[in-house]
Amino acid sequence: MISRRSFLKIAAAGAAGVAASSVLTGCSSKSSGVKFDKTTDVIVVGAGGAGLAAAAQAAADGAKVLVLEKAGIAGGTTNYSGGVMQAAGTSVQKELTPFKNDTPENHYKLWSASGEGYIDEELVKDMAYGAPEHIEWLTGMGMKWTRVYGHCHVPYIDDALYADRIHVYEGGGGEGGGVILTQTLLKAAESNGAVVEYNSEAFELVLGENGEVQGLIVKQDGKEVAVKASKGVILAAGSIDQNKEMARELSPQQYWDLDTQICLCAKTDTGDGIRMANAAGAAIGGFGGTIDFCGKTGAATDNAFPMFPHFIVNKKGQRFVCEDATYAYHYRAIFQQVTQLQGPTWMVFADSSLKDKFTRWTPDSLKKDISEGTVIEASTIEELAGKIGADKDILSATLKRWNETSAKGSDPDFDRNTGIAPLSGKFYAYKNVSFNLGAIGGVLINKDAQALTPSGEVLPRLYAAGLNAGRWIGPYYPGSGTAIIGLIHWGRKAGAHAAALKNI
Ligand SMILES: Cc1cc2nc3c(=O)[nH]c(=O)nc-3n(C[C@H](O)[C@H](O)[C@H](O)COP(=O)(O)OP(=O)(O)OC[C@H]3O[C@@H](n4cnc5c(N)ncnc54)[C@H](O)[C@@H]3O)c2cc1C
Repeated sequence: MISRRSFLKIAAAGAAGVAASSVLTGCSSKSSGVKFDKTTDVIVVGAGGAGLAAAAQAAADGAKVLVLEKAGIAGGTTNYSGGVMQAAGTSVQKELTPFKNDTPENHYKLWSASGEGYIDEELVKDMAYGAPEHIEWLTGMGMKWTRVYGHCHVPYIDDALYADRIHVYEGGGGEGGGVILTQTLLKAAESNGAVVEYNSEAFELVLGENGEVQGLIVKQDGKEVAVKASKGVILAAGSIDQNKEMARELSPQQYWDLDTQICLCAKTDTGDGIRMANAAGAAIGGFGGTIDFCGKTGAATDNAFPMFPHFIVNKKGQRFVCEDATYAYHYRAIFQQVTQLQGPTWMVFADSSLKDKFTRWTPDSLKKDISEGTVIEASTIEELAGKIGADKDILSATLKRWNETSAKGSDPDFDRNTGIAPLSGKFYAYKNVSFNLGAIGGVLINKDAQALTPSGEVLPRLYAAGLNAGRWIGPYYPGSGTAIIGLIHWGRKAGAHAAALKNI
């Protein structure tokens, strides 16, 4: 058994820019000579959303599928999600929204604009065009759709590209609703013969003479087991979500989230699929973005719940972002201010804000938050500045400007659309805390979800799907439902392609 030390194979890394990375160079892949303990057609690493979609598709297409799951249960981060997913031009969208003529092309253009040049356009287009059929596929598995809503805007993107595209199934949309999706996919996979083995941590790929992937080594019951995949291996182990070392190297915002904020992802999503692929010769990239939002207020997650009157200021007391822009867009700006000025950002509101229909605080919840120190209270804006450590003159000027422009019903400074009203009465400040739903970036793939080498060639018999793959989401998460539709898309594409390969 020859152990092959890998070198960093990052292709034009991503938003964060990536230097030589010590967290990856220690990985290895085994070259041929391995005696396999068992054989299957397709191995799927990870029984989360992407892995289960891949398994369901590959098994339906007739392949013998083995899913290896590190945790004791299926579902991964997808279990914690609301399971909502974006698609344009579906019959459900036509039935439940005013958007009767929406198209995948418009959807693609919106994702493309939000990609800011960091995405692989072909992947994103493929996903937008593939999305409607995934809704049909899930409908065929018994899922029922109850609502379709839209995500909040980004100031520089053409308003004409927006539509209500976020599909919610019965029981979905809330915390834990993702379990319905993962159980549906699990049932579909198992009913076609796929087998899931739990407490099974895949950690090393096995390569053939020509560099093609032949199988992998997995830890089960304290032993290392070599499993052959006659058709291919699909990596669906999530991104670097819970791996602080990898985040430090590849994604400063993810590192910030893990170091000082709150990460809601599955503890088992530690970038294993990305490390294994990279060690086998695959390129990785598209890192830097994160799925961050305000867990306290749910700000800008749903266009049916506009923002209430408030503004966000940096350490000095200046506004710096359109507050009702989709959550991960404004959280990227928050992260940048925190790192640039080395101090917190604050959501500033007032008594007048509490009268708004969409206020996030009731008199009771405000009282509680003030008593617990989560919200700071002051009689004047100057007093508030003193309490939060902002510059009194700057914060007062920010309020003056906001009250002047909002009285005229507009936000000429940051193009905000909702919650535009002057603030008066007592003032309050909530220190923004990021709730992280995952990192963006992973293995570079083509439209069949095949892993690519740094020179863009296919790495034979290796696939990546879901958040294990990179460049299908840009430097910030464009809005709810992108991840779930993407993991179904790339999971199914990987499963279908692998199942169609000739056995080795
Ligand atoms: C609270 C919350 C709400 C969200 N809501 C939504 C939403 O409504 N819509 C949306 O689009 N997105 C949502 N997201 C984001 C979305 O859920 C995730 O991006 C997505 O579920 C990731 O799916 P995945 O299949 O790539 O990874 P996962 O579902 O996390 O699956 C990865 C699996 O791989 C396993 N694994 C890891 N390493 C190994 C290994 N070495 N060997 C074997 N198995 C391994 C893990 O245990 C896990 O089961 C939400 C996220 C959170 C946290």
